[in-house]
Amino acid sequence: MQFLITIGIIVSTIIAMEAIAWFTHKYLMHGPLWFIHKTHHMPRHGRFELNDVFGILFGVISMSCIISGMHTMSTLFWIGIGISIYGLLYFFAHDIIVHRRVKLGMRMRGQYAEALRKAHLIHHKTITKKGSEEFGFLFVHPKHLK
Ligand SMILES: [Zn+2]
Ligand SMILES: [Zn+2]
Repeated sequence: MQFLITIGIIVSTIIAMEAIAWFTHKYLMHGPLWFIHKTHHMPRHGRFELNDVFGILFGVISMSCIISGMHTMSTLFWIGIGISIYGLLYFFAHDIIVHRRVKLGMRMRGQYAEALRKAHLIHHKTITKKGSEEFGFLFVHPKHLK
């Protein structure tokens, strides 16, 4: 039973993280934090961009949850694990499948990868703070599936 609860906490955290990321992206990154996020909507010079601080921030949050929950293996620990898994999925989907920051030497195929790429490139059509669409990172609206 404990195992199912643990899986439930992790899965719920991943779903909640996508909702939080969507909200943050739409209302903060394309809002008051645009001065940071705009580096992701412009051509990148070099390996990193200022926008990467968001990834580092979520990394710090997940590590804090893991470390503070570690001794008692509490819910917080598993929430931290969920945030870390979300971070890895986000990195794989957004930075590898869509932006290809790490070249795997092949293009990810499949309906989901193509839909993800299509939706996120619609987001990148806009290089301004306002007027962007498609703020999700892992969730893709079914209309983008062929
Ligand atoms: Zn954006
Ligand atoms: Zn992007």
